[in-house]
Order: sequence, then structure tokens, then C-alpha cells
Amino acid sequence: MDNFEITGTEMHDFAKKIWSYNRSLTGVGQRQTLSKIKEQIPQTKIKKYRSGKRVFDWKIPDEWHVNYAYITDPSGEKICDYSENNLHLIGYSDAIEQDLPLDELQPFLHSIPGQPDAIPYITSYYEKRWGFCITENQRSSLKKGIYKVSISTTKKPGTLDIGEIYIPGRKREEVLISTYICHPSMANDIISGITVSLFLAKLILGKLNREYSYRFVFLPETIGSIAYLSENYKRMKKNIIAGFNLSCIGDDRNYSYLPSRQNDTLSDKAALHVLNQHFQGYKSYSWLDRGSDERQYCAPGIDLPIASLMRTKYGQYPEYHTSLDNLENVVTPSGLAGGLNLVWKVIQAIELNVKTKLQILGEPMMSKYDLYPTLGTKYPDLESRLLMNIITYSDGERSLIDIANLLNEPIEKLHDKAVILKNLKIIDF
Ligand code: ZN
Repeated sequence: MDNFEITGTEMHDFAKKIWSYNRSLTGVGQRQTLSKIKEQIPQTKIKKYRSGKRVFDWKIPDEWHVNYAYITDPSGEKICDYSENNLHLIGYSDAIEQDLPLDELQPFLHSIPGQPDAIPYITSYYEKRWGFCITENQRSSLKKGIYKVSISTTKKPGTLDIGEIYIPGRKREEVLISTYICHPSMANDIISGITVSLFLAKLILGKLNREYSYRFVFLPETIGSIAYLSENYKRMKKNIIAGFNLSCIGDDRNYSYLPSRQNDTLSDKAALHVLNQHFQGYKSYSWLDRGSDERQYCAPGIDLPIASLMRTKYGQYPEYHTSLDNLENVVTPSGLAGGLNLVWKVIQAIELNVKTKLQILGEPMMSKYDLYPTLGTKYPDLESRLLMNIITYSDGERSLIDIANLLNEPIEKLHDKAVILKNLKIIDF
């Protein structure tokens, strides 16, 4: 896996830095996360969308701030303390100060009986309510008596913040990388996507001889991509040739892929080529399994070619949307490095995906170019056969990924051969 092991540790260290911020649709946690990204890549731009602004069919919500939230049990001890774990409080919870007996408190407590050690992650963005999330173990140990609920939160107009990194290449055509920044302390389902995107941007800036331009967006899921699209979709439709939503891409289990709605875009071709060549055993989903911002990017009328690259997909691992989705149990240095390796290989496949065209009529006389053994035997020479296969498909219509798939060879190998043929003026691209 190249030399991504060191990078994996650096990535995991970065993930720890942004772990504890209380991210939501809007607010301080997002700004803290974006400022850590900007520390790493100073050209990161922050775009702001005001609360109340209409974006397509939606409206930017108010900012939610938490001052404190906890419950005092009958013995005077604090439980479900938000300052100890931000998952204890339901996202966008209303403020309340109230004394309640245990049986009246129960409807406002949320736990998972089948996962007694897990605090669930629950939000109520668009319905006013309050509530706490607690482990089933702790919940079942609660004693009868009066509980004092203390939640100090505010909802007031502010901004929804989106981070954007633009990296120009020789062409104006762009590859989009999108990831979301709207969950609090959740490792695979959010922090892995932010971390892999950030380190991919660093690789592209440092190591890629860029044909294409690259645009990274860090935004809250759904409302963020809708807000961003509402201002940029015309330009995006003109320039974006491929793109990926990065989600759940830092665990060590499997690799997985969810296609664009159109199903046969350059993004799909490049992703499938790399997965088939280098990540066999990966899991393939269908558009019907969609669940992240690809829903907005591929919506009819927007029609962007955005597929999803993941390790273990959201909803498909037991720790998903609980406190167990953390940087110890689920997301590891090698998991993050593996995710980066996958996306990096897909980006390289896109960069190498030239259209080759034969410059000679009929087959070239290969021995003239020193490309064919002069001794004819019944054993075909695999090297020259490969060159002949590239030549026969160099019709100017098929791209190198198409040819690589037809020949079941990795594109990087074919590209090296195509360069030899180009230098001899046999093909051009
Ligand atoms: Zn989620």
C-alpha cells in the first residue's frame, strides 16, 4: 500500500484533534472543525449561509448552542453529562429545567437494549423536543426518585458554514470530493470522511501532476449540499466530470462502493476499475441503497456524476450511530490509510484515463519499432500481445479505463505501455 502507514498514524492523530467538537447542522462545532482543516490547508475558504435563507426547497436552520446539559439523580450525582460525552444530549434538543420522577423521565431517555454499553446518537433537527441518550446498562441501574433535568441550549440565527478547497489543474474540468461535517463524536460516520478528504487534498497538492482541477467541500449532510448546490450547480454541471462522496471510510473491515444514479459515469468506471483490480472482495451497493449527499448531487435536474466510496457503509456495522463508533473500536490508522489508498488510486485512474488513437492505417509493423520478437514461434510473446491489444482498441472512442477493463489489466500498467507507443508515434493521446 505505497508508504501510507506513516500517513495512517498522522491521519489518526488528526482525527483525534477534531473528535470532541459538538458538530451539528450549523454552529460552533462546525467552525472549530473547519478551522482545523484550514490550519492544515491554508487556502481553505469558508462559505457562510445565513439562517432563514431559502435554498431550493429548504431553509437554513438556526444555530444550536449548548451551554450545559445533564440530569441530577436522587442521590445528587450528575448523569448523562453532555460535557463528558456530547452524544448524551439529543441533537437540537430544546432547553428545559424540570424535576421529574423516574417513570416520567423514562420517555425522554433513549438507549439500545441490544447494545447495553452503547450511547445512541439521536437528533431531532426539525421537530421540537428534548431528551437524553444513555447506555442500557446505566438506564437499568437508575433508582426510583426525583430526577432534576437541566438543559441550557439556545437556537438563534447564525450561519451554516461550508469549507471549500479548490486545487487548479491544467484543465478547468473538475473532480469533486464531498464529505460531511454534521455529526458530533462519531468516528467512521463523519471523522473518517473529513480526515481522508483532507489528506487526499494534501496528496493532490503535493504529489499529483494534475490534468484536472479538484474541488473539496466539507459540509453538513443534506442541508449543506443543498445550500452549496443552490448557489453553484450551474457551474458544477458545466465543470464536474467525476466526483465522490466520502463516508465511513476509516475502518478496517471491507471496501465498498455505491454508484451514481446514472450508473455509468466516469466516477463509476474509475471506481469499479480500481476496486476490481486492487480491492477484490469489496461490497457493491445499488443506487437504491443511497443515503448520503449523493442523493442531492445526483438528483434529477442536478445530474452530477457522483458515486460513493466507503469502507464499511453507514448502517452496515454494529457500532453505527452509537458511542461505540469511535477511534479505538472502529477507526484505525490502517483503516484510514486504506481508505486514502482507495481514493488516491481512483483519482490516479481518472488522471491516466486518456483516449488513445492509432496514427497508422492497418497494424503497425512492430519489429520495425523493436517491439516484436523477430523469431516467430508458437508461443505468443505476452508483452507484444499486450501492445497489440492496446493498439487494436485505440480507436479514439474508448478510453484507457475501457481498454484496461477489456484486457483485465490495471490502468497504470497500460498507461506506461501507451506512453511507449506514443513516443514511437504509433498512437496519440
Ligand atoms: Zn450518520
